[in-house]
Amino acid sequence: MLDKVLIANRGEIALRVLRACHALGIKTVAVHSTVDRNLKHVGMADEAVCIGPAPAGESYLNIPRIIAAAEITDAQAIHPGYGFLAERPDFAEQVEKSGFVFIGPTADVIRLMGDKVEAIKAMKAAGVPCVPGSGGPLGDDAAANMRIAREIGYPVIIKASGGGGGRGMRVVHTEAHLTNAIAMTRSEAKAAFGNDQVYMEKFLENPRHVEIQVLADGQGNAIHLGERDCSMQRRHQKVVEEAPAPGITPEQRAEIGKVCVEACLRIGYRGAGTFEFLFEDGRFYFIEMNTRIQVEHPVTELITGVDLVREQLLIAAGEKLSLRQEDIVFTGHAIECRVNAEDPDTFMPSPGLVKRFEAPGGPGVRVDTHVYDGYKIPPNYDSMIGKLIVHGRDRATAIARMRIALSEMVVEGIKTNVPLQQRIMADGGFQAGGQNIHYLEKRMAEARDKAMGIG
Ligand code: ADP
Repeated sequence: MLDKVLIANRGEIALRVLRACHALGIKTVAVHSTVDRNLKHVGMADEAVCIGPAPAGESYLNIPRIIAAAEITDAQAIHPGYGFLAERPDFAEQVEKSGFVFIGPTADVIRLMGDKVEAIKAMKAAGVPCVPGSGGPLGDDAAANMRIAREIGYPVIIKASGGGGGRGMRVVHTEAHLTNAIAMTRSEAKAAFGNDQVYMEKFLENPRHVEIQVLADGQGNAIHLGERDCSMQRRHQKVVEEAPAPGITPEQRAEIGKVCVEACLRIGYRGAGTFEFLFEDGRFYFIEMNTRIQVEHPVTELITGVDLVREQLLIAAGEKLSLRQEDIVFTGHAIECRVNAEDPDTFMPSPGLVKRFEAPGGPGVRVDTHVYDGYKIPPNYDSMIGKLIVHGRDRATAIARMRIALSEMVVEGIKTNVPLQQRIMADGGFQAGGQNIHYLEKRMAEARDKAMGIG
């Protein structure tokens, strides 16, 4: 077993990893920036190291400082959480070169999945269904690109090979706009990701976002833990997630799950991972793989009873997967609401002092947050301050529990998106289930128009 793990992250996920470590008897090292001394997990960790000032580039993204912290504390392994360095192959590489265990897949696999063109090629070869597309990077020959688009059929989407976070994409509806859209996406991609490679896909007009959770030990064993529906999005950012996905049959789950498991074995995947798909008209289309733990992992934990972070730690310790596919049984329904420190109407970040914080409770309620009474949210990082997750025997019960939990939640001193989450839970379309990725923004626009007396 691992003896000591350094947690290269902050906030709720750092706390989540710390809890999983302590439950296994593993000691922890917290690393933090100067504005994060009062983070909950920093106080709970066996050791804490300040690695730099507030800007992430000088702390949470500074690889030499994190590795130095692991060296001086004699940690054995490094858990990257999500965001920050979690999907940086150079980080995984330097961690391992310095003699530590990286809690995640190999640098080569992270690199492969970080290059979307290469990832799609690898997935296609492994039998994973992909969106019809260019199958490779686009060149500069306008006529050739038009031929590709015509073959795929409009609308198409131009995407940056090195893109992420919902950036570096452009939808094209007609041939007249194609060449210009490719050029613009290319130059944006170059500026944002340092890589001007772009590719083309069919633009699916009304898909849902459905993703498959996997666990693999890198020793020939892999399983899937079913799917999550993350279609409630704003600006490509997930707002609400749930498991299982409404309307997905056990047969569909087993089929796509098996495809993902086989792909894991084929690419030598190790650790927890997620295959993201667009789901339209009963079919799955792979868009990307996340080679890390995800924000929304708790909904899968609640319906399967599997502690995914614990499994990550065991796999990193070199243990074989103890769970077999037939051990994974899905019970009830789980929903997660992301709680953000932001204005629920304008979405402006709302950092500052949390004067009073009261978490909800009761049967089937889980709160993953680092916030406490008197905690000051720094303005330097992501606005997500926690997650409210509920479980019930069916979807209606889960929604009812979430509505009560949201109403019990007290956060004073800052603004949060709890009112927006309450509106979503009360919405007839959400309650019906199975809405597509545009639904939330459409409903929000309708509500705005109504407030302004239009419609
Ligand atoms: P990122 O890595 O930036 O998150 P993704 O490839 O995962 O990029 O795409 C992000 C989002 O963009 C998807 O969740 C979906 O909303 C939209 N999207 C991407 N590709 C397509 C497509 N082919 N058709 C329709 N929407 C798409």
